[in-house]
Amino acid sequence: MQAEASFIIRNARVLTMDEANPRAAALAVSGNRILAVGSEAEIDVYSGPDTHVIDAKGATVLPGFNEAHMHIFGGSAELRELSLMGVKGFDALDKALKAYAADYPQRDLLIAQHADYTILSDDERVTRHHLDRILPDRAVLIFAPDHHTAWANTLALKMGGILEGRDVGIGNEIVMGEDGLANGELRESNAIRPVSALGETGAREMLGVGTGGDPDHVTAEERAADIEIIKEGLAYVASLGITSLQNMDGSLYQLEMLDEIEKTTRLPVRVRMPFHMKNFMPLADLEAKAAAWRERFNTDRLRSDFVKLFMDGVTESGTAVFVDDYSHQPGWKGEPLFSQTHFDEIAIAADRLGLPVAVHAIGDGAVRMVLNGYEAAIKANGRRDSRNRIEHIEVVHPDDVPRFKELGTIASMQPTHPPGSAGLPLEPYLSYIGEERWPHAFAWRTLTDAGAPIVFATDWPVSPLDPMHCIQCAMTRTVWKEGMKDQRLSLYETLAAYTRTSAWVEFMEDRKGMLKPGYLADIVVLSADVEAADFTDLAAIRPVTTMCDGRITYQA
Ligand SMILES: [Zn+2]
Repeated sequence: MQAEASFIIRNARVLTMDEANPRAAALAVSGNRILAVGSEAEIDVYSGPDTHVIDAKGATVLPGFNEAHMHIFGGSAELRELSLMGVKGFDALDKALKAYAADYPQRDLLIAQHADYTILSDDERVTRHHLDRILPDRAVLIFAPDHHTAWANTLALKMGGILEGRDVGIGNEIVMGEDGLANGELRESNAIRPVSALGETGAREMLGVGTGGDPDHVTAEERAADIEIIKEGLAYVASLGITSLQNMDGSLYQLEMLDEIEKTTRLPVRVRMPFHMKNFMPLADLEAKAAAWRERFNTDRLRSDFVKLFMDGVTESGTAVFVDDYSHQPGWKGEPLFSQTHFDEIAIAADRLGLPVAVHAIGDGAVRMVLNGYEAAIKANGRRDSRNRIEHIEVVHPDDVPRFKELGTIASMQPTHPPGSAGLPLEPYLSYIGEERWPHAFAWRTLTDAGAPIVFATDWPVSPLDPMHCIQCAMTRTVWKEGMKDQRLSLYETLAAYTRTSAWVEFMEDRKGMLKPGYLADIVVLSADVEAADFTDLAAIRPVTTMCDGRITYQA
């Protein structure tokens, strides 16, 4: 007598991501595990009176997407804010902000997202004066897509107490105008927070990525409202076919809220979170916090088992760190957030505790410093299976490309981030890095060919979260100049970077990331066959059913 399946998915083009058995027509699920993967006839035998049968209608079935770099709380909060994506020029900005202000007359601070650095024009940056002309009597804060820069109007700067400027620490800046007052541009989180904290959520959603800390004070009511925001976000995540997310916010506040959701209504998606180490934190925090959280949050549904750091900022605001000068600003290479010695100490100590490390490094100078730290850890402690990663790697120095394989370092990259992709402008990015660095920018193919394991993600809310949109961006990326190397991966490699490799990064390759008997039943059924589609049509393919842990978490 065969075991009876709780679900059978049939009439499918199953891409298992399992090299030993790459394709199948059907699969069976029992409880939270995959029972069998095979032909229609092989799977039919598991059918019983209580089996739910899902007809995939010839469409692709994949392991659920694993979004390897995103920010769940911030992304969830932004679902309620204005998006300026695609808005271009003063008049369009004026119209969008005025309509938003009219819709939310009670909000103390109007927050909008996805304002390109060139939202006004290619050569004029937003200042408080532009925003004052639109809304002089309502406080306004608009964020660049990367969230590393924001622009506030005069009222918002006044309310935040920073109109006269303030020292906000290395790598952060309240940009001053010629009149001796802040001009409205705020660079990095210490500069932005005095204003963003005036919003509905008190900017609590930004703490995990900003300070790595928890709110000083939060009422039971505020916390309940935050949980509701995160729940909405998690439902949205599941609706996109995602079954695992790696939240890059390190914050105990968020971990405890997610734990409460898991214990009350269950998480619809598996969550992994880091401890966020800032440059002012003592080394002892790695043991006292990061390692302690690993003990406390250690299930397949919610875990905290790695360390996140920022080595630099972003290119557009001049805070990314390069080996050579910025092309548009001779003499400036950017300033790292950690010294090499300090980062080496952290990398060595984390490695000693068996904690993987993930570091935001955008410029090739920052990437090099992180690789140096990983190398120092191997020298100090010996080689282990560390699965350390570098986030973004927008530019890599050619000398450092082979070091990824040598050091076992994972490249965590975002197909929605190259200028020209996902509606992002080419400028000012391309002229800031300069043409000589273009071949080494967003170099997925180069890194993959050199043996670097690669994972893809969106860094939501920096880019739209939809994996199919991101996969389309990956497959349709064009070169910036004729004759440049095509950096795209194959469709199969791209799908693996969203499923199998991201599970491996989490040390969960023995139970996740492939459709294989005994593996966790994390599955997405799509609306069409991804292999038959034109790359330009991939984003039109939608998740029909998302299953996480054997439970349906989304049904179209
Ligand atoms: Zn991020």
